[in-house]
Amino acid sequence: MPKTKRPESLMIQAVKNNDLKKVTALLKHTTSVNDTDRDGRTALWWAIHLKSGEISELLVANGGELERSWLQIETGQNTLAEVIKNRGVSDLNRCKLFILTGAGISAESGIPTFRSPNGLWNHPDSQRIATHSHFVKSRKSVINLHVKLKKLMKEKVPNQAHFALAALEQQWLGDLLVVTQNVDNLHFKAGSLKVPKLHGCLSEKRCEACGRVSQWTTEDLDSAPCSKCMRSTPHRPNTVLFGEESHQHEMALRAAAECELFIAIGTSGMVAPAFSLVGLANNAHKIEINTEETEVSGLFDEKIQGQAHIEVPKLMKLLGVRI
Ligand code: NAD
Repeated sequence: MPKTKRPESLMIQAVKNNDLKKVTALLKHTTSVNDTDRDGRTALWWAIHLKSGEISELLVANGGELERSWLQIETGQNTLAEVIKNRGVSDLNRCKLFILTGAGISAESGIPTFRSPNGLWNHPDSQRIATHSHFVKSRKSVINLHVKLKKLMKEKVPNQAHFALAALEQQWLGDLLVVTQNVDNLHFKAGSLKVPKLHGCLSEKRCEACGRVSQWTTEDLDSAPCSKCMRSTPHRPNTVLFGEESHQHEMALRAAAECELFIAIGTSGMVAPAFSLVGLANNAHKIEINTEETEVSGLFDEKIQGQAHIEVPKLMKLLGVRI
């Protein structure tokens, strides 16, 4: 079906002016348009908000075809703090929030980042070994590297940044996706239940026959047959090696493209798919929390320079999360 043009700019203006009469008139035009699901959904949102007698900013936020999110359309301001200062936080915690975490969020927990000078991963051998091609040639050395990293991370505990994101998961009213590139399991130790692990997890193993993921508790990966398929096909570490693709990749790309607020915490943005995620979040206000400028800093609307264990709880409080 052909797409019908909607007078979006008039609608935005009407919302800005709190002009209910005008919004109603425009809405009539809009609800008569029923050409695609997406347009149908947009119209529905508008109607719901009007019924409650309020013209809410979310009216604009949910106009799926608008180019920028309400954070920018409505305010033209640069920082989330300024937006909240002017308008309060009540509607904000219903928006679509996407958070990407990287090695920097776990730095304060004592786990070196990927590129830090003392990082195990920074060792040329680690980068050479943790590859798919090396795994095919020499399983044993890849498994040994994992055992070494597993030991390093075993005793580590989450910090205030992980705990703040666990509180967010409990309290956020809108769509929320927190994804991590980390393999350290600290989000889960902090109490988060729904954090997809883009690069897998060091404390898990996977049956190569049926794909069942289970906890890797012994040093020997193949101490017993798989408890699901009962085959004695070898297990492998449940991490994504260099040269392999993440199973969670597509889902993360979709969510990033749809979100309205995008927050990247402690990632250099250089490992796939991190760099593509921020580039896709075209409709979002984008915030980067990092101790340093990164290669992708220029793609963000707002940069918070500082350590994750301090800045993340502050930002979560700003978003209305009780910590
Ligand atoms: P990275 O090392 O490339 O980047 C880390 C980023 O965090 C840097 O930009 C750095 O400036 C920043 N940073 C350092 N300390 C910080 C702090 N206290 N607060 C905020 N920011 C801080 O890591 P990456 O972008 O996550 O990509 C590396 C890959 O290596 C990941 O995909 C991951 O699988 C793996 N890795 C995981 C862990 C872990 O699980 N904790 C650790 C190292 C590497």
